[in-house]
Amino acid sequence: AIRNVETMSATERLDFAEMAKGHLIQPWPVAGEIGAEARGGIIAGDGIYVTDIEGRRLIDGPAGMWCTNVGHGCEPIARTLYEQAMTLSYNSPWYTASEPSVRLSKRLAAHAPGDLDHVFYTTGGSSAVETALRFMQFSNNVFGRPTKKRIVARQGGYHGSTYLSASLNGRPRDHDWMDSAGDLVVKLSCPNPFRRPAGQSVEAFCDMLVEEFSTTIETLGAETIGAFVAEPIMASGGVIVPPPGYLTRMRELCRENDILFIADEVVTAFGRLGNIFASKEVFGIEPDLITFAKGVTSGYFPLGGAMISAALLARLRQSNHADAMFAHGLTYSSHPIGCAVAETNLDLLEGGLLAHARDIAPYFQAQLKTLEDLPLVGEVRGLGLMACVECVADRESNNPLALDLEVGKRIDAHCQQLGLLVRPLIHMCVMSPPLTISRPQIDDLVSILRQGIALTQDELVREGLW
Ligand code: PMP
Repeated sequence: AIRNVETMSATERLDFAEMAKGHLIQPWPVAGEIGAEARGGIIAGDGIYVTDIEGRRLIDGPAGMWCTNVGHGCEPIARTLYEQAMTLSYNSPWYTASEPSVRLSKRLAAHAPGDLDHVFYTTGGSSAVETALRFMQFSNNVFGRPTKKRIVARQGGYHGSTYLSASLNGRPRDHDWMDSAGDLVVKLSCPNPFRRPAGQSVEAFCDMLVEEFSTTIETLGAETIGAFVAEPIMASGGVIVPPPGYLTRMRELCRENDILFIADEVVTAFGRLGNIFASKEVFGIEPDLITFAKGVTSGYFPLGGAMISAALLARLRQSNHADAMFAHGLTYSSHPIGCAVAETNLDLLEGGLLAHARDIAPYFQAQLKTLEDLPLVGEVRGLGLMACVECVADRESNNPLALDLEVGKRIDAHCQQLGLLVRPLIHMCVMSPPLTISRPQIDDLVSILRQGIALTQDELVREGLW
């Protein structure tokens, strides 16, 4: 049932918290609180705003989880959900193909770089990455090179929560208590220019990163490495924009060594950086596979996918094992409602939202950059409509703050009182609002964030922690 906060009684609000505590398990819980925590309730959304259980209207700073690109309460998408459900709510992707899935694939192929003209649909980002990785393993089996299976990823990266995709994750604490297929994965350094060795130029830093990959290939042998997986901009790792030239050079090394370059565009696609896909238009690379999710439906329906290069498919067709089966598929692959929603979402992006995102991005970045005058802020970085404010222990050294200070959470708590939802990441705050955001709304967002950081600064000083 859809609730209206204005008509909700105090008892109902209490019930909500109790129910959440009693029965709902939320992502990333700690052992002592699994199924026993009540995170802030959100009950409505319109445009760039959400309304919480207390009736407060908050700017949705992270657009949900980097996904509500067209904003909340989008009428054309809501209509599509209803109309497609009434036309065809589901069909088996094993035996049949729906009209929206066929049309959407053609449109995505037209936007994708190079010869990436086929799509395998999934239910989200993790399953998209899992699909790309299993496809790499499958192709190397078919090509008669069963040892070419290692996956190269990076420290700081995030690729999902299924077993194989999660094994690539390189963020602190992601592996502390979790098993993984670690023996298959090799992690390179995080390409974060802000954390490069003291005194090193960005160019030398880039050379070092490329050299590290090259040495890794030499040491392990190209015949043992199947794929390199990279977010063009690391999202959950703290909006890490790599040094200029880094991605093209990594791409080149992959080509030279017959290693598949998988661009994980789960966050960077569908307008976040001003284009449908960012690999070619923003970074000048043509990957072998691209994974996407989130913005493809602006979060209105769980959908993801992997774009696969025509050359790779041709190689499989011409192999000695053309009858080998890629035994992989999901009940909800190519879901007709998801694909129909994605089409309407594409209409909105192509019909002006991409242009708006491109137009407003420099203002968004410039306004956020003004926060660098706050003593707690070490760097504000980003591109397009994704940005990160990183707090530091002191501005001389830019040393990171102690993890357990959870400065991001403190800033988020203050900002929520003032009307802004923040995505806290340890000592960082991520901002990736709906692409519909206007200049005055950016001013509001930055002004609240400034107050939230200032209040956190005062609080840390008061508590003798900073
Ligand atoms: N890849 C990237 C780059 C992501 O940011 C995420 C989700 N934050 C995923 C994959 C996993 O997507 P999902 O949560 O939809 O499974």
